Amino acid sequence: MNREKELKNTAKKYADGNFYEMQKQSPFHKNLPKKVTSLNEDYGYFECSTCDHAINYGEDYTEHNYCLNCGQRLDWTEVVK
Ligand SMILES: [Zn+2]
Repeated sequence: MNREKELKNTAKKYADGNFYEMQKQSPFHKNLPKKVTSLNEDYGYFECSTCDHAINYGEDYTEHNYCLNCGQRLDWTEVVK
């Protein structure tokens, strides 16, 4: 899957509101905060270290407490850019 398509899929999931369901169903281990693998502020996305998906964060990445794709809880205390 190419990056552009990935971002579109993420945006669609966000629009559907499915990520709220995912957050509720997150297994316990995903509730332990994990750092993202990379943050690209030019393009407005970060990559989840658990599922390797690029997540389009829009305005402010710190508002994302969970990965929109897999429900991994995110740790923004130390960001790798
Ligand atoms: Zn993820």
